[in-house]
Amino acid sequence: MSEPTNNNANSSEQASVSEFNTSRRILMGPGPSDVHPRVLKAMSTPLIGHLDPEFLMIMDDIKKMVQRCFQTKNDLTFVVSAPGSAGMETSLVNLLEPGDEALICIHGVFGNRLADVAERCGATVIKVESPWGESIDPNQVKDALQKCSPKIVAIVHAETSTGVLQPLDEIGKMTRDAGALFVVDAVTSFCGTELKVDEWGIDAIYSGSQKCLSAPPGLSPVSFSDRAVHAMEQRKTKVQSWFLDLSMVRNYWSGAKRAYHHTAPVSAMFAMREALRIVLEEGLENRFERHWTNHYLLMEGIEELGFKMLVKEGFRLPMLNSVLLPEGLDEASIRSILLNEYDIEVGAGLGALAGKIWRIGLMGESSSPNHINMLLSALKEITNR
Ligand SMILES: *Cc1c(COP(=O)(O)O)cnc(C)c1O
Repeated sequence: MSEPTNNNANSSEQASVSEFNTSRRILMGPGPSDVHPRVLKAMSTPLIGHLDPEFLMIMDDIKKMVQRCFQTKNDLTFVVSAPGSAGMETSLVNLLEPGDEALICIHGVFGNRLADVAERCGATVIKVESPWGESIDPNQVKDALQKCSPKIVAIVHAETSTGVLQPLDEIGKMTRDAGALFVVDAVTSFCGTELKVDEWGIDAIYSGSQKCLSAPPGLSPVSFSDRAVHAMEQRKTKVQSWFLDLSMVRNYWSGAKRAYHHTAPVSAMFAMREALRIVLEEGLENRFERHWTNHYLLMEGIEELGFKMLVKEGFRLPMLNSVLLPEGLDEASIRSILLNEYDIEVGAGLGALAGKIWRIGLMGESSSPNHINMLLSALKEITNR
């Protein structure tokens, strides 16, 4: 950001704030990712009202495309007008009532957040944990399910804090066999790696706009199975959040009488529609393959520079690479040189991994050989100084 000019020093009445002029960053962190110019252009479309029939048609298009990207036929599929964490909260506040048991799998920051939200719903939380950097072993879930009868089992598909891809099929099957609802955090995996909501028996799923979808942050695509909807209809208590109560917001997104619920972020929805169009033009399979190809390309180059992958082979995320720095390199100062001199953003470690790793994102538009070449060349220059 350029220095603000202090030209209002003596005029408190006519305070003027200079135009902002942000640097042109290359986004290679844990989100937001780079956004296609078509998406930015869509966002600058003149406003229409949030109940304008033309806007309702845009919402319908968004719903259809989100269903395709989640690979689901779920009718209750829409986009929450708030970031990924609000999608998480939507899933839990609608499914949990005080006194319910919730089995929460924790293998990083976002598993902890799920447990925190579930506790705030008044649920009794049973935690299944694995060390950060590892996935949850289905046997852990199996053992836990023998000692409780939870209403939901919740797990993070792509743990952005560690770079772990969590296999879901076995745990999903156990969850259904136990009569529980399967809740999945797909904030980072959505549109970046294989994700089959119907085939995998997922009952509630939420994502975010700013990761592999490459739309601006602030929106959360979600989807709920008929089983989940049935469970919501059986509630004895009101959902404690007015804004996130699906029984009300769903009438804004579908049905015969589309009723006002809140003022939708119209411009952000324009962007969402265009970002989804771009995903489907590329094709989901092609997009997943691109994310894998670029992951291998980055890995090859960064290992040559002495970095090591944190996560063991077979459990690595294609869109979020957790790397341990070579001995003797100060992670914080190199990260700041990357940002300030090369305009490249990479992510720092979180929680237990703070100061130990970098999280290099190759999400959506940021998953490209050019991004990788820029980062690797910059790192070569910096480390040869
Ligand atoms: C980013 C992220 C979230 C939170 O999304 P926000 O948009 O930051 O609220 C939740 N879960 C995972 C796995 C994430 O990567």
